[in-house]
This record gives sequence, C-alpha cells and structure tokens, in this order.
Amino acid sequence: MLDEEREQLRARLAEMTAAPRDPMASVSFGKRVGEGTTQAVERLNQVGTAKQLSAMLEDVERALEKLSEGTYGVCDSCGTEIPSERLEARPWSVLCVACSARKAG
Ligand SMILES: [Zn+2]
Repeated sequence: MLDEEREQLRARLAEMTAAPRDPMASVSFGKRVGEGTTQAVERLNQVGTAKQLSAMLEDVERALEKLSEGTYGVCDSCGTEIPSERLEARPWSVLCVACSARKAG
C-alpha cells in the first residue's frame, strides 16, 4: 500500500476518533420518576447510539494498530483479505463480513 494512501486513511480514522471520548457522559437519566415516556425513549436511543459509537471507536483503534502492524485489510479472526468495497464503506473494518456477522450474532 502506498504511504500516501495510508496517511490519508490514518487521517480519516483520526477524524472519527475525534468524537467525544466518553459519549456516555453526556447521557444522564432524569432523577424524577414519572418523567415523560417520550423523553425516556429518546434517552434510551441516545444510549444505544453511544454504545454503537464506542464499539466503532474500538474498531477504529484496532484498525490503526493494524495499519502499524501492516495487517490492515486482513481479517483479525480468520486471516482472509477484507474486500476493498467493505474497507471503502467502513475503513475501520478489522473483520471480514462473515466473522463480523458471527461476532454480532
Ligand atoms: Zn474473517
């Protein structure tokens, strides 16, 4: 891989990690019982998003490690090459589609 491409990718990943470090910190549940259901649901949605975000940040950090190791683009689990379309859509991918589905399910 060209160094230039690698640097661009690194910059792209660094942008993503620039998101708030602890997204959970900004989510606070109301202290009063009986607050509006809509508000409660909204908060739960926020927590869901925060969890997804922190899971993604873990992958981004691992992807950066893989860049350093020279294993970027290779599945962490089974060692097959991750398709370039997948890497373009999700540059922080550290698992191939099959292993990612296995991990999620
Ligand atoms: Zn795999």
